[in-house]
Amino acid sequence: MASKIKKIAVFTSGGDSPGMNAAIRSVVRTCAYLNIECVGIYRGYQGMIEGDFKTLDARSVNNIINKGGTILKSARCDEFRTAQGRKKAYDQLTKEGIEAFVVIGGNGSFTGALLFTEEYDFPVIGIPGTIDNDILGSSFTIGFDTAINTVVDVIDKIRDTASSHNRLFFVEVMGRDVGHIALNAGVGAGAEEILIPEQNLGLERLLDSLKRSKASGKSSSIVIVAEGDKIGKNVFELKEYVEEHLPIYDVRVSVLGHMQRGGNPTCFDRVLASRMGVKAVESILEGKTNLMVGIRDTKLVLTPLAEAIKAHTEIDEELIRVSDIMTT
Ligand code: ATP
Repeated sequence: MASKIKKIAVFTSGGDSPGMNAAIRSVVRTCAYLNIECVGIYRGYQGMIEGDFKTLDARSVNNIINKGGTILKSARCDEFRTAQGRKKAYDQLTKEGIEAFVVIGGNGSFTGALLFTEEYDFPVIGIPGTIDNDILGSSFTIGFDTAINTVVDVIDKIRDTASSHNRLFFVEVMGRDVGHIALNAGVGAGAEEILIPEQNLGLERLLDSLKRSKASGKSSSIVIVAEGDKIGKNVFELKEYVEEHLPIYDVRVSVLGHMQRGGNPTCFDRVLASRMGVKAVESILEGKTNLMVGIRDTKLVLTPLAEAIKAHTEIDEELIRVSDIMTT
């Protein structure tokens, strides 16, 4: 693999997700394997603008594959949205002799990377690291599998208490724009209803479903609500609505929040991150740029960043059908 590139940077950006460390480790070790210098940039684009760099060798990423979060920290950086900010970042990178970078993040991070590479003709490759699984060009993003397993674990516990007290629980999970976490974790945990941003089931259908559930002899119910659910009521308003219209239910609410981002990554996320890190570095050395590494049908694929940021991935209609049948 003949390449002129001798120094590559890696950083994490936007919301953190479990498995980001495994991806950093993979990029660092692949560089070491190929005798390329690898520089870690701390705090995403903010650290790039400030020159917060540190050379990482193979040993500097020992014992992080199993850790959630990101050793390089993450940040949101408004200055990088400006041409001036990106110029500062470019100056810092060139001063350090960095010739390409791997960005691990979501849609926003890729949008910034694309602008940067268009302005400065700088080689970049993206690795999708976000729990939302909302990036076009990859069936899975790093962190999604861990997040849905975390949610399923919690719902299993909630179910224990729900069935002991004949209660109805509304459980809010992350997902402002997409319902992948809600749908997958909901099916996996056997939820009675799953409310997602992609579909407006309506309040009537929710009430009907809960009535049916009660009539069929179920003693407790769990309804998963994605943050961006289309009914447009938050979980607390839903609770009030149901209590008003179905007083037979004793309703409780649980908002899972940031715990969904934390925890040790699952084996799936660690393997995915390891594979994507290798592919990212090798792609740069092959002269490929402005691309995102993704996975489709178990194979790694490259998608132009411009495509990846165009839209969110669509919800799996087949899984919605499965969910409908399971809640009979
Ligand atoms: P997540 O999906 O977890 O939110 P993300 O990568 O989409 O991750 P954002 O906060 O949207 O997270 O973006 C991360 C950073 O990328 C921003 O703080 C900013 O520095 C940069 N960025 C986002 N959008 C743009 C843009 N339009 N132009 C330049 N930079 C951007």
